[in-house]
Amino acid sequence: MQLYSASLTSYKRLKTSEVKIGDLLLGNNHPIRIQTMTTTDTMDTIATVEQSIRCIEAGAEMVRITAPSKKEAENLLNIKNELRKRGYKTPLVADIHFTPNAAEIAARIIEKVRVNPGNYVDKKKFELIEYTDADYAEEIERITERFTPLVKICKEYGTAMRIGTNHGSLSDRIMSRYGDTPMGMVESAMEFLRIARGESYHNIVLSMKSSNPLVMVQAYRLLIQTMQNEFGSCYPLHLGVTEAGDGEDGRIKSAIGIGSLLEDGIGDTIRVSLTEDPEFEVPVCKDLVKRYANSQEDGKSGSREEVSSSLPDLPTFGLSYNPFEYKRRFSFAVDNIGGHHVPVVIADMSNIQKITPQHLQSIGYTYDEATDKWNISDSAADYLFSGEQLLDFSLPGTLKVIVYANAWKNAPDKTKYFPIYSDSEFGSSDMHSPLINFVMMDCFNGGASVTDLSAFANDASVVICLSSTNKNAMQSVRRMFVELAEKKINNPVILITDSYWQTPDEHLIHFATETGALMLDGLGDGICLGYNSKAKMETSKTSGRTYLEVKDSYQFTNNTAFSILQATRSRISKTEYISCPSCGRTLFDLQETTAKIRSVTNHLKGVKIAIMGCIVNGPGEMADADFGYVGSGPGKITLYKGKEVIKRNVDSTIAVEELIGLIKENEAWVEPGQ
Ligand code: SF4
Repeated sequence: MQLYSASLTSYKRLKTSEVKIGDLLLGNNHPIRIQTMTTTDTMDTIATVEQSIRCIEAGAEMVRITAPSKKEAENLLNIKNELRKRGYKTPLVADIHFTPNAAEIAARIIEKVRVNPGNYVDKKKFELIEYTDADYAEEIERITERFTPLVKICKEYGTAMRIGTNHGSLSDRIMSRYGDTPMGMVESAMEFLRIARGESYHNIVLSMKSSNPLVMVQAYRLLIQTMQNEFGSCYPLHLGVTEAGDGEDGRIKSAIGIGSLLEDGIGDTIRVSLTEDPEFEVPVCKDLVKRYANSQEDGKSGSREEVSSSLPDLPTFGLSYNPFEYKRRFSFAVDNIGGHHVPVVIADMSNIQKITPQHLQSIGYTYDEATDKWNISDSAADYLFSGEQLLDFSLPGTLKVIVYANAWKNAPDKTKYFPIYSDSEFGSSDMHSPLINFVMMDCFNGGASVTDLSAFANDASVVICLSSTNKNAMQSVRRMFVELAEKKINNPVILITDSYWQTPDEHLIHFATETGALMLDGLGDGICLGYNSKAKMETSKTSGRTYLEVKDSYQFTNNTAFSILQATRSRISKTEYISCPSCGRTLFDLQETTAKIRSVTNHLKGVKIAIMGCIVNGPGEMADADFGYVGSGPGKITLYKGKEVIKRNVDSTIAVEELIGLIKENEAWVEPGQ
C-alpha cells in the first residue's frame, strides 16, 4: 500500500474484506455498489415500497430506509414482504440514530443496519468535558455494553452492518479528545469496530461522511491507514458526501469527495446525497462509477481498467505534500496567479469563430450599452483563451486574454494579451511577454519522461499549464506536481482539463473529479475546463432519465469551474447551501423550501445556510453552517446561528422571513444587486 491507496501512480482498487448483504457481495474487488435512501414515511408501507422500486429500477443495489423508533423498525418487515411479493430481492438497510432498540429489531428483519457511532449510545449535549484516561475507558465499557447485543444479533442473523460516522455528529467524548477533526471521525468508528471485532463479527462496512469534501477525503484516507496499521487489512468503504444540496452544486460536491477517492481505487459502495427524489441520485452514482472498470456499468467508453501505469514511481519520500492535512502548495505569484491569490478561472472560448461582447455574458461580463460599462458578476472568469483570435472590442477591466504565441506577436495591447506556448516552443521562441507567459505541458504522455524543464523552471513570468492525455490523468498531473517539488520548481500551475464525455452530467462529474481531487490537496493555482472535439453536449432524455439542462455550454463550464473552487473552499464566489437529502423523519417539503430559501439568499456570497429536515439529526449534521433552518415539528421551524438556537418553533409560513431577519441582525445580509 502507498500511504492510503493500493497505488498512487496507477489505477488499482484497494483490497478490502468481503461483506455479504443478503445475496449481494461487497468489497474484495466486487463491483462498486450503488445505493440510495428513501424519503417517504417508513410507516407508509406502500409509498416506501413504491419509492424503493423506483430506486431499484433506476439501478440501486441497496435501499436504505430510516427507522427512528421501534414501530418503524417493525414495519420494515411489511416493506420487505411487499417488495419480495412484487419480485424485488434487493437488500434493505435500516438507518439508525439514537435508538439501539430499533436497531436490534431491524437487524432481525432486514439485510443490513447502519449505526451512527456518534449517537448510537451517546446523547449529544454539545459539552466540552475533560475525560481522564480512566473516564475514557469507562465510557468505552459503557458503549461496549450497549453495542454488543446488536453485534451478537447481526452475527446470529447474518446481518451486515455499516458503522457510519458523520463529521457533524461526533460524540461529546470524541469531540473533547480529538475535536471535529478527521482523526476524531476515524476514532469514532474505530471504537465501534474494535468492539465488533472482539465478538469476531466482521460483516462490516465503514463510512466517514462530511458535507465538506476536504474533511471527508482526509478522514477516509486516515481510516484506511489506521485500519492497515492496526489490523493489517481494511474493511469495505461506503463513500458519500452528506448534505451536498441539489442541482449542479450537489453533484459537484459529491463528485469531488467521492470521485477523488474512487480515482485512487478507494470505495466499495457509494451513495450520492442530493436534496432531490432518491431515484435521481442513482444516475449520478452510475456516472461516477462507470469511469472505472469492474463496476455495474463496466466497459462503457472511458472506463478505467486496472492496468499498471506508465508513470514513474513516486520518489522515496512519497508525495510532496501531506495527504492528511490541507496546505496549499507553495508557488510564487505571476501577476494575479499563484502565491496568495485565489485560484483563477480561465474560460476556453477558442472554438468560437468570432468572439463578440455578447459572448462574454456567458462568463460573467454583461455589457451595458447605455452606460458603456461592463457589469461584472462574482463568477466572472479572470482570463479568456481565444486561440488565435485578437478581439476587436475593448475588454472589461478585470479580463485578460491568452492567445497562441504567434498571434500574440500582433496583439495591440500587451498588458491585456498574453502568449501561450508548448513546453518545447517556449525555449526556442525569441519573443516572450515580460509579464506573463503560459507554458503547456502534457504530463508523462505515453509514459515519456518530462521534457527539459530548465527553459522555464522558476522563470518569474511563467505560469505552467498542466494537462494529461493519459487515462489516469489526475494521477499523471499529481505525479508531475511531485516532480516539480523534487526539482524545487515553484511556478504557479493551471490545471487544464478536457472532457471526452457526452452528457452535461458526465462532463460535470469528469471536471469535478479530475480537478477537485487535486485542488483538495492544495495543488493548482487556477483551472481551465474544456471539451475535446470528440465530446458532445447531449441532453437527450432517453430511457426516462432527466439530464441537467444546459443552454449555454460556456456558461456551464464557467459556473462549473467556480463551483469546483467553492466546493474545495479555495475560492468563495457564492452562497453555500448545506441541505439534507431528507428521509422519513423530514418535517417539511425540503426541495420546495430549499428552492425558496435559495431564491432569496443566493446573492449572499460566502454565507453558509443549512436547511435540515428534522431537529433530531439536523443540528448535528449542519457542520459549519453560519445559519440553520431546521424542522422542529409539523409546521414548525427552529432557527440557528451556528450551533446556537435563536428562535424555537417559528411558524413555517413566516420562517423564511424570520431567517432573513436573523441574517440581517447578524450583519451578514446585503441587498441584492449591491
Ligand atoms: S437531517 Fe434530514 S436526512 Fe437527516 S435524519 Fe433529519 S430529516 Fe432525515
